[in-house]
Amino acid sequence: MSAPIPSPVPAPASAQALQAPGGQPGPAARRRSVPVRIGPVTVGGEAPVVVQSMTNTDTADVAATVRQVEALARAGSEVVRITVNSMEAAAAVPRIRERLDALGLATPLVGDFHFNGHKLLGAHPACGEALGKFRINPGNVGKGARRDAQFAEMIEHACRWGRPVRIGVNWGSLDQDLLARMMDENAAAALPLAPEPLMHQALIRSALESAARAEALGLPHDAILLSCKMSGVQDLIAVYRDLARRCDYPLHLGLTEAGMGTKGIVASTAALAVLLQEGIGDTIRISLTPQPGEPRTREVEVAQEILQSMGLRAFTPAVVACPGCGRTTSTFFQELARDIDNHLKAQMPRWRERYPGAETLRVAVMGCVVNGPGESRQADIGISLPGTGERPVAPVYVDGEKTVTLKGETIAADFTRLVDDYVAARFGRTTAPADTD
Ligand code: SF4
Repeated sequence: MSAPIPSPVPAPASAQALQAPGGQPGPAARRRSVPVRIGPVTVGGEAPVVVQSMTNTDTADVAATVRQVEALARAGSEVVRITVNSMEAAAAVPRIRERLDALGLATPLVGDFHFNGHKLLGAHPACGEALGKFRINPGNVGKGARRDAQFAEMIEHACRWGRPVRIGVNWGSLDQDLLARMMDENAAAALPLAPEPLMHQALIRSALESAARAEALGLPHDAILLSCKMSGVQDLIAVYRDLARRCDYPLHLGLTEAGMGTKGIVASTAALAVLLQEGIGDTIRISLTPQPGEPRTREVEVAQEILQSMGLRAFTPAVVACPGCGRTTSTFFQELARDIDNHLKAQMPRWRERYPGAETLRVAVMGCVVNGPGESRQADIGISLPGTGERPVAPVYVDGEKTVTLKGETIAADFTRLVDDYVAARFGRTTAPADTD
């Protein structure tokens, strides 16, 4: 794979340009990228940053995979990747697609191929047709002389079906021939790089050379996405900053092997937030290791939370709640914050249809008079609950004005009803006047 690396494209994003257009605080202008269509979803260009996820079922198990793709899609995953690692899995892909279509789910499927993708796509053409995108890892396409031929076969299948390809480099499976070559070149250089930057350059070169090779084989420029995943936060940021400057392909962001629970969430957020703030990234996937019993949809929830908390997208109304302190000795306010949050999430599928824009709602649930009224006034609707020793009343603020004071046993139910009424009044579709001509 010795095709030339595409020439750098001037990118507006830079680590210094952390201001939104117009001087408003916010993310930098989005890095310019070519829009790529994955079935009904566009990634890159002007499209919002797309949330994607990956199943952990055996793809050959059609029922289990359909169930999990459905759960991920209904949770908000706009693209779902599935492993295609065996003849049985490849044969199952068209059946999975059919069942999803029958459920009314158009969510595109991405086939994750390693080692034998060329054989699977050759033996099961319907698999290629059913997928919305292929993921190819240049480090796992094949060894030695077979690598170029097998890579070319994969690209031929993508061209045949008109499918885009993500060239997905991963430092755990970096092309070892390329790395060895670069180490030799580096050893002979007048100013050799240290091992870490050399590894970064190897990842980027693997992605860009593979993309150039794919284009030379006939894959259109606007059918290629790139990723260079690493498990270290600083490594990932450094690699993507460089990659972003050197091409205009849409970039898929994700910290690989992020880990379990809090560690995985925090590490992914730390890495992705920096890049997104700099305008880098067109689609994200959070690679969490689920805790035993934890739903796979957690990774979708985290991806949405990252984008929403950064103000890049809105998926579900936000509940602003204080952490509580010694002034809130009962659990009432924690329970109310949790119940309101659950209520809003439960209502969203219906509200999305009936009340467009309801996902931008901000609700405050505050524990006492110290910050309660102030924070509640900033929200669309907020409640300031009584802290220890305060009068047992809860003023409610709507659009910054105090409207009513709740008290007694029904505060929670009353406030929930007020939130529902507010949503209906503010986001309800207005019926167009009848055409009398
Ligand atoms: S608003 Fe009141 S209860 Fe909540 S953290 Fe602040 S002082 Fe404590």
